[in-house]
Amino acid sequence: MPRFFLEAAQFRGSQAVITGGDARHIARVLRMGIGDGLTLCDGAGMDYAGVIRQVEKDRLLVEIVDKHPSMSEPQLRVTLFQGLPKASKMDTVIEKCTELGVSQVVPVQTERAVVRLEDEKARAAKVARWRKIAEAAAKQSGRGMVPVVSDVCRVSDMLPLFSELDAVVVPYENEQETHLAEALSRMESPGSIGVVIGPEGGLAREEVDAMLERGAVSVSLGARILRTETAGAAVLAALMYAFGEM
Ligand code: SAH
Repeated sequence: MPRFFLEAAQFRGSQAVITGGDARHIARVLRMGIGDGLTLCDGAGMDYAGVIRQVEKDRLLVEIVDKHPSMSEPQLRVTLFQGLPKASKMDTVIEKCTELGVSQVVPVQTERAVVRLEDEKARAAKVARWRKIAEAAAKQSGRGMVPVVSDVCRVSDMLPLFSELDAVVVPYENEQETHLAEALSRMESPGSIGVVIGPEGGLAREEVDAMLERGAVSVSLGARILRTETAGAAVLAALMYAFGEM
């Protein structure tokens, strides 16, 4: 059944109004009409079963007949803390991780990041762009929610957020003992996990130490060094697999 993301204002009690491009797409491309069913998503994890009741030019009226939590959302909530990468790599990270089911992406200005988003306007523009990418990827992949993309923060702002998560893993190239698989096997069906990925220059030893002090576990991802834009997606895939979401 076709799925459409709607803004909160489009839901009006037991009805929803679809206008613009979506309305044209439904009526003209999908050739749907009165009596046909579709799924509406509020982008916050709830799906609504709707039936088209009225078709006007560029405007559809849909009756909501049922609602249930989106079935495409993973039970595991993953927050990706991503060290700011170069150029447009963050676009890739957000797109791929959205497909893989990330709940939140927190861009982090780490010590060895090449990129410095000091200018507030430039930073706001970047974050707005990343949010659009998250939204588009969520729609494309049939997610029930659009992952939250937070404002860029510093490591010191990130650390207190660990206490809200059941576990935090920090992939670190210098970690020789604990592999990701081992760290995950010690966890008992966590509801939420944080993953901290360093930028191109990696994480500084002191940064990792500060994270370990806050209860994070440093892990190896194996003998090969992954690029920063590969690492987050790789860990996310491993988490979804390990906890039965794949
Ligand atoms: N510091 C490295 C590259 C960093 S890779 C260098 O300068 O050559 C970017 C990030 O990906 C790292 O900070 C780490 O979080 C993660 N990463 C990549 N490969 C990894 C591996 N084999 N084990 C653990 N973490 C890895």
